[in-house]
Amino acid sequence: MNFEELHSDMNKQIETKELFETSKMYAYDYMDKAKTMDVFPSRDSLAMLDDLSEPMPGSPCQPEEILRLLHETGSRNTVAQTGGRYFGFVNGSATPVALAAKWLADVWDQNTALYVISPIAAKLEDLCEKWLAELFGLPSGTAAGFVSGSSTAIICGLAAARNELLQRQGWNVTEKGLFGAPQIRVVVGEQAHSSVWKALSLLGIGKENAASAPVDRQGRIRMDALPHIDGSTLLIVQAGNVNGGAFDPIDDLCCTASKAGAWVHVDGAFGLWAAACENKRHLTMGIEKADSWSVDAHKTLNAPYDCGIVLCKNRQALTNAMQSAGSYLQYSESRDGMLYTPEMSRRARSVELWATLKYLGKSGIDELVNHLCAMTERFAEGLVKNGFVVENEVVFNQIVTRCSNPDGTAGLLEKIQASGKCWCGGTVWNGEPAIRISVCSWQTTAKDIDECLRLFANL
Ligand SMILES: *Cc1c(COP(=O)(O)O)cnc(C)c1O
Repeated sequence: MNFEELHSDMNKQIETKELFETSKMYAYDYMDKAKTMDVFPSRDSLAMLDDLSEPMPGSPCQPEEILRLLHETGSRNTVAQTGGRYFGFVNGSATPVALAAKWLADVWDQNTALYVISPIAAKLEDLCEKWLAELFGLPSGTAAGFVSGSSTAIICGLAAARNELLQRQGWNVTEKGLFGAPQIRVVVGEQAHSSVWKALSLLGIGKENAASAPVDRQGRIRMDALPHIDGSTLLIVQAGNVNGGAFDPIDDLCCTASKAGAWVHVDGAFGLWAAACENKRHLTMGIEKADSWSVDAHKTLNAPYDCGIVLCKNRQALTNAMQSAGSYLQYSESRDGMLYTPEMSRRARSVELWATLKYLGKSGIDELVNHLCAMTERFAEGLVKNGFVVENEVVFNQIVTRCSNPDGTAGLLEKIQASGKCWCGGTVWNGEPAIRISVCSWQTTAKDIDECLRLFANL
């Protein structure tokens, strides 16, 4: 096919919509199966992935064939996290309206770098920024950057913190870099998420330059053992430990930090949503005293991937850290998204975030968080009744459990993962192998939990 033929072929695809109808049909088929299909692909399914292996194609392929391959080989090799029995990592499902909005936004194919590239994306980012600050009870005027997930959001928050703390010592990181810079102190909980350590490494700080704050058995920073905090300190706290879901004593930590003039970043990837829930708000008490926050919409909120947010009280600190200049860039009076993120070109993830927030509203988000927590409690209570040990204080959506006999835990986890009926991940909890359960999907019902409990008891 020469380009003229390709061009007319593609235009025909747009005119007839046949491809899109096919895609829609496959998508509907998947939606219908997602609740009942194996949560993790079977061995036979996984073997089919080899069918996709081929050298880089030399010439064009029929688009129908591409979609057929994706559906027949791809769909069965997905992890059914949009169903109700996936409890791995902290993986949310997706609300239907967000998916539908995302489909539309995919057709728009917007680049959200600048207002002049996408006024609608800029408007929705603006709205989401305000709504999120209100939902979490953060100071009005808090700035938000819309990124792929918490890993990137943490990098942004810590970059703003690092630059601001050094600026206060008369050092401009943007101009001078880090070589020869004055010291800043970093204090971080011993059980900080791995993405915090990655961010510290990317930002030129490194593990050895961070003082680790001792934690209790739940992974919460211990106030009685808190390393020295001074005006040059970046203190990183956690709203939601990735294993047990525990929250650091954020209010106490923020009070200590604010007396010293330190910067506090809150990693609230899934736990910050507690602040949007009446019954759980006590867990995040004091977060408004922090300086920056990172949170995922693709976890607790059940927005589709990828949807993370960095929030920063000092707008200028964030935009200074993310600044970039080029003769062809046209900044506007309205919001230019790239001033808040490391990326220039980005997809319009604010579309599905906005759709989810607008669909649920404050009361719906409150209900969603309550539901996830109630399902978690049901799971934990059932486990204890069946003789399992629940290691963590179940305060949010996370459970760490193990068999009464430690040798059984690894074997049970393997059987659960191979069952296709439910999927949980493993972890190490205070030195012992354990199974971690994260209830993060709006789809999870009491029936799902009870089925999983039977599975745990009978495998
Ligand atoms: C998931 C998670 C992260 C990383 O978030 P991504 O969206 O996967 O990049 C960071 N911190 C905590 C506590 C998490 O649970």
